Amino acid sequence: MSFPATATATATATASKLKRRPLALCLAWLAITTASTVLLAQSPGDPTNSEPAVRIVDQAPGVTLALRPHQVRFDDGNSAYVSSERGVLIVDAPTDPEVIKHWVAKAKAEGQSIRWVLNTHWHSDHNQGNQQLQAAFPDVEIVGHHSLRGEVPNRAATAHHERVARLTEQIPAARSALANGKGLSGQDLTAEQIEAQATAISQGEEWLDTNRAVEFLAPTVSFDHALQIDLGKHTAELHHFRAHTSGDTVLVLRELRIAFTGDLLDELPFIGHGSPRSWVQALDVIERLDVDTFVPGHGDPFGKEHLRVIRDYLAQLIAAVDEAKSSGVSLEDARQSLTFPQWRKKLATDDIARRFFDNTVADAVAAAWNEQ
Ligand SMILES: [Zn+2]
Repeated sequence: MSFPATATATATATASKLKRRPLALCLAWLAITTASTVLLAQSPGDPTNSEPAVRIVDQAPGVTLALRPHQVRFDDGNSAYVSSERGVLIVDAPTDPEVIKHWVAKAKAEGQSIRWVLNTHWHSDHNQGNQQLQAAFPDVEIVGHHSLRGEVPNRAATAHHERVARLTEQIPAARSALANGKGLSGQDLTAEQIEAQATAISQGEEWLDTNRAVEFLAPTVSFDHALQIDLGKHTAELHHFRAHTSGDTVLVLRELRIAFTGDLLDELPFIGHGSPRSWVQALDVIERLDVDTFVPGHGDPFGKEHLRVIRDYLAQLIAAVDEAKSSGVSLEDARQSLTFPQWRKKLATDDIARRFFDNTVADAVAAAWNEQ
């Protein structure tokens, strides 16, 4: 049973291993693609893989992280547990119920209440666990940018219910096609593909069982520009940015020199719902913060060097899109031709990341193209 090391020297060993809940990687793509053959398109890899579903890491005094293992780092969000004498603040409530169960059990074991859950943005892998947290701690305040009051019950819930409906329809069709050795589009499958498809189908069924009845809860406390939460010894500073989405929140714990960025600052950011131009400005502001460690929405913590890499990527994306636009190229042609191989090489260092990059780069071009 291996627990990959985190990127930061200060992180200490894992506290416990949560029960492995394999979740097909395909489900992550379902959130961002509409590929009808998605059940086959992405194999989740070796189903007997012994990597835990989540890594629990003590990051700093009172700060514990739930990080996805490397192989599934894009399929659900990270989460953090910040304890204080005034109660526990959770940063992001991902889709995996095991993470929420772990935080609830930890709070109860420590005699604490979970008083706040911050949703860093509207994507469901950062707020789907709100309902489960509220069931355990009915007084918990759900905190987020004011735009989440509309986006969570509308966009997040709608995307989720569409995913449920799509899988409900696809799984029986995929199962009967598989019985004849075929994929969803009727294509013949190799033995390896049959095994991968069977795994994807059972993981899809497991996901449906867990997710069919989820309700999406919007923030009960929201803000426009900034908010401070008094944690006693520390102050949690919340700052709004328009970047990965229109309603991103970055949480800064100044005394601990840590910032929690949600997907505004990921190992490999998803740009398709974002505003690259204001994103670059946001990164300029964040770079000036007096912090050493950024905890992203996906991937391991990192420092300012990676922030600058992401900013350079966004700046080159914008420059390339502007150049294409001014030379009369159509958006459709720009989506096809701007593939940024040098950035793919630099940012996407394994097959999972390369697939993520390839599946999302055209939407990144469109986001830069359409931003006013
Ligand atoms: Zn996101």
